[in-house]
Amino acid sequence: KTEFMKYAYFDKEIVEFEKATVSIATHSLQYGTTCFGGVRGYYRNGKVSIFRLKDHYIRLMTASKMLGYEFFMEWDEFKNIVTELVKKNDIKEDFYMRPFIFCKEPRLSPKKAGLDFDLAIYMLPLADYVSTKGGLKLMSSTYRKYNDSSIPTKAKAGGSYVNSFLATSDAQRNGYDDALMFDDTGNVVEVSVANIVLIYRDQVIIPDTGNAALEGITVRSALELLEYNGYKVNRGKIDRSMVFTADELLVTGTAMKITYAESLDQRPIGQLDFNAAPKPGKFYELLKGEYEKVINGDHELSKEWL
Ligand code: PMP
Repeated sequence: KTEFMKYAYFDKEIVEFEKATVSIATHSLQYGTTCFGGVRGYYRNGKVSIFRLKDHYIRLMTASKMLGYEFFMEWDEFKNIVTELVKKNDIKEDFYMRPFIFCKEPRLSPKKAGLDFDLAIYMLPLADYVSTKGGLKLMSSTYRKYNDSSIPTKAKAGGSYVNSFLATSDAQRNGYDDALMFDDTGNVVEVSVANIVLIYRDQVIIPDTGNAALEGITVRSALELLEYNGYKVNRGKIDRSMVFTADELLVTGTAMKITYAESLDQRPIGQLDFNAAPKPGKFYELLKGEYEKVINGDHELSKEWL
């Protein structure tokens, strides 16, 4: 059962989480018309910090624009609300924050006319999201990642997460940790709620921007950390064979931070023997260390990102 923090932001004020409720007939519940952010905060050395909040804010407002919700809030106002909510919840642990834009009006038809969208935010304690020891065991999903001609893929729209739900729950039903998703042409896009970085023949490769992956803030951070360490990052097509024959497959997302996949469809990644015991690679170790340094405030990039 998920435990939430006592206060949330709802209906333009900070209220007790239990009091932030909507009708069962609300437009957003019936049609998935939301867009949301997933933000991480840390409590280190007696101080609360939030990872790349402005980047999350920009992605959220961009999504609202793309989806035509016609909701916008200035950065200063958004930042003040978040700051006030963080104070009110008296945080003493690492946490996750979910700002989202939604429509709470009850409505039978999906059309937009006459509907108002608004911002709400709730928070919960969150140390480590991935409970797996070692790397993730991935399954190739039979569900394709939807493409941009159907739903804007760069928007975290609530309804489109039925796609992630199908992929990840099928993977878990089959005994895997998560699903690797492909596009209509068979190229790798991402994991159900996380981006990927492939280490292949000494190159760092991420899927082309034109592909349907979300523009993840963690993957951007991972790439910037790699560049900071002198590595060049390439964009290109990644097919399944490349994953099978890669040195490493890194998996990045706000909730899971930076982790790696130990296998795809039971074939170990980065090892020749089908039955080899899994082991983390050097890029994973490097990035994990760098990321921890950032969130502990010990990295040159800490100031910019926290
Ligand atoms: N892809 C999808 C589909 C996601 O839902 C997420 C999680 N927001 C990511 C990638 C990773 O993005 P981020 O690093 O910004 O959390």
